[in-house]
Amino acid sequence: MTSHKGIIIVVSGFSGAGKGTIMKELISRYDDYALSVSATTRDPRPGEEHGREYFFVSNEEFEKLISENGLIEHAGYVNHYYGTPRKFVEDKLNEGKDVILEIEIQGALQIREQYPDAVLLFVMPPSAKALRERLVGRGTEDLDVIEKRLKRAQEESVGIEKYDYIVINDDLDECVERVHGIIRAAHAAPSRNLDFINTIRKELNEL
Ligand code: ADP
Ligand code: 5GP
Repeated sequence: MTSHKGIIIVVSGFSGAGKGTIMKELISRYDDYALSVSATTRDPRPGEEHGREYFFVSNEEFEKLISENGLIEHAGYVNHYYGTPRKFVEDKLNEGKDVILEIEIQGALQIREQYPDAVLLFVMPPSAKALRERLVGRGTEDLDVIEKRLKRAQEESVGIEKYDYIVINDDLDECVERVHGIIRAAHAAPSRNLDFINTIRKELNEL
């Protein structure tokens, strides 16, 4: 018996660790998840579409979203702003869907404060060398930005213990199944099944 209430799953990890790749695969394999699309002030990468990978907005538009309380969290990351639109997350949770937020650590900690029930997951590369190779191999940033992102990874590595779980993205297929397994296990926590537990208690009392 699992809970019918949606859980917020926060997925963080160093740039290039494979978060986007894992999430795409997870969503294609399972219908259980709704992936939140963030707003950002950075430019689209080749192949990225407005409304699919991100809502690409200007600084002014981003500030307006903040002032209207339209974001549940936001943070600065290597010269740009990123934030999670509130309405989608609230709507999907109410529908009973698990909502995945692929966001960095400052945002993750803001989510934990507002939703103590959220599950925080950190994606790790198998090694630092593999991380650099993946960032370079992706070919979407120039070397200057890659160095900034690797520096940021060094800073973010200090906060990993604040997360509930780490997953190592070595073999993609295994990693996707491990992420799914962690989320299924979270649904089995007694704290997320209080209605069912109380029903059984009541039935036992009435036997
Ligand atoms: P992130 O979203 O964390 O910044 P991406 O999903 O864009 O990372 O992945 C970074 C690069 O690493 C991409 O080129 C992707 O194809 C590659 N990649 C992702 N997962 C793996 C893996 N398990 N093994 C090898 N390469 C991977
Ligand atoms: P990228 O530019 O590589 O797509 O994302 C850069 C970083 O911003 C990644 O660590 C990503 O997880 C994070 N990020 C993406 N969307 C959001 C968001 O809505 N809020 C926060 N806090 N971080 C985000």
